[in-house]
Amino acid sequence: MLMPTEAFFKRSLANNILPGLESGEFSVYYQPKLDLVSRKIKGLEALARWCSSGIGWISPAEFISVAEATGEIVALGEWVLFTACQQTRNWQKNGFPDLSVSVNLSPRQLEEKNVVSRIEAILAETGLDPHFLELEVTESVFIKNSLQALEVLRELRELGVRLALDDFGTGYSSIGYLTAFPFDCLKLDQVFARSIHIPQTQIVIRAMTRLARQLGLVTVLEGIESETEMVMAGHLGCEQIQGYAIQRPRPVDKIALILANWRDMEGKAI
Ligand code: C2E
Ligand code: MG
Ligand code: MG
Repeated sequence: MLMPTEAFFKRSLANNILPGLESGEFSVYYQPKLDLVSRKIKGLEALARWCSSGIGWISPAEFISVAEATGEIVALGEWVLFTACQQTRNWQKNGFPDLSVSVNLSPRQLEEKNVVSRIEAILAETGLDPHFLELEVTESVFIKNSLQALEVLRELRELGVRLALDDFGTGYSSIGYLTAFPFDCLKLDQVFARSIHIPQTQIVIRAMTRLARQLGLVTVLEGIESETEMVMAGHLGCEQIQGYAIQRPRPVDKIALILANWRDMEGKAI
């Protein structure tokens, strides 16, 4: 059972999400993903941030679950998607033509009847080519209605959008999802980065990257915090990494400089 103060806090978050969205309290931060082979930043993950006028900074771990429970994730998620597509198109026009963006899609959003047409409309309005958009879902999307989720994911893929399975390796992590659903990318959960120095973890990562490659999926290891972890991720077959070792999620005005710095370093040792 929730403690009264926790229940009060969650209710207060729930009541403030839509007003906060309307009054500009939300923003999108971007975290680069590094391709270990080309040493290029090929894409960014868009992550929602909320600085509430009453409470201050609130972690996504708190507000995303509340927004998911109340259904407000539909409006919030759509705003994040629009903002990220528009911003990425801007960066593409300003010196980074191949940049792609990954946006998290919650199970609740996938249940919306018109989700595919809404995403199509956002791509058309922002002018972002669908190939530069990746949608990240976790296996939780399959738990309630896998047949509907499969159908929606197929339709999204037909638009040309890429699909990633996020936080893989925790929960049920059914290998069946990888064969039954049309994913392009497998994002291994941060727990593997945390214990990458342990031989058993290395065996598991190597097995997962090999499996993913044979199924035609790109593997990303999330949560890489040091250069040692980065080198090990490469040795264990991960094609891309994401984490504080490369860059923390940053606000929009910092990204162009970060991308330019990486482009200038291309091919050089990190
Ligand atoms: P996620 O999609 O797995 O995103 C990665 C999370 O790991 C982000 O947390 C990021 O800041 C954090 N992270 C990245 N590198 C490192 C690292 O090296 N070390 C550590 N310790 N953490 C790292 P964040 O931004 O707090 O987001 C948490 C989760 O909230 C996300 O996990 C995602 O599931 C959800 N989320 C965030 N924005 C959105 C959104 O716009 N829509 C939806 N549906 N979910 C979102
Ligand atoms: Mg994600
Ligand atoms: Mg993740």
